[in-house]
Amino acid sequence: MKITPKSLYQILFKHFGKLNWWPTDYDYHKKTGSDPRFEVIVGAILTQNAAWLNVEKALENLKSKTLLDIKTISKIDIKLLQKMVKPTGFFNQKAKRVKNLAEYLESNYTGNLDSFFKRNLKEIREELLMLNGIGPETADSILLYAGNQPIFVVDAYTKRICKRLPIDINPTYDEIQNFFQDDLSKKYKKNEILKIYNELHALIVIHAKTYCKSKPNCIKCPLKVYCKHAKELTQ
Ligand code: SF4
Repeated sequence: MKITPKSLYQILFKHFGKLNWWPTDYDYHKKTGSDPRFEVIVGAILTQNAAWLNVEKALENLKSKTLLDIKTISKIDIKLLQKMVKPTGFFNQKAKRVKNLAEYLESNYTGNLDSFFKRNLKEIREELLMLNGIGPETADSILLYAGNQPIFVVDAYTKRICKRLPIDINPTYDEIQNFFQDDLSKKYKKNEILKIYNELHALIVIHAKTYCKSKPNCIKCPLKVYCKHAKELTQ
C-alpha cells in the first residue's frame, strides 16, 4: 500500500494529535518585551546535532540572565554566550553562529523581525543561507516557525521515514522538500498549508522519536501497514 504526504499527515495527526510546535516561552518575552520569534531562531541553530532537551537547558540559561533578545545577543561577550549554550555541544561554533545572526539582524534590520520577515520567502531564504552555519534545515525551520512562511522542513527523521516506508524519491533535501510541497499544496487550500507544514514536521519528529528510532519499534507504529521496512523485519 502506497502512502502519500497527505495520508502520512492524516495518520500521524490522528495518532499524536496537535503538538503546538515550536515551543516558545511567551511569558518570558511578554515580561521582557523581547520578540518570541528570536527564541525560535536561536533554538533552530542550537538544535543542530543536539537533543531538544539540551536546547531547552541552553535557552533556560539565556533566559535566567535575561539575555534572550537580539540586541543583547548581538553585543554579548562571546565567552559568556559559549558558556550559556554549552549544553547543546559544539558550543564555540554555535555561539558564533547565534551572535553572528543577531549582529546581522541588528545592523541590517535594526533588530526588527517584522522588517526581516516581511519580504518574499525566496529572498529571505537566500539571505539566511548566506550566513555562517545556516543550512537548508535551519533556514527552513526559521522561515516556517519564526517567520510563518509556507515551507516544509526536511530533517534526518524525514529522510529516515521516507527511506523506510519507502516514499520513493531521491533522498536529497530539495527532492524530498519538493515532493512533500507538490503533493500537499495540491491537496490543501492556500490558507491551510502553513498549518500543515508546521504540524507535519513536528509529527514526523515525534514519530521518529517514539517509533521510528535508529532501531525501530514497529509493533505499535501507526504506519506499519504501509511500511516495507517493518515487513522486512518480520520476514
Ligand atoms: S513500521 Fe517501523 S520502520 Fe516503518 S515507519 Fe513505523 S517504526 Fe519506522
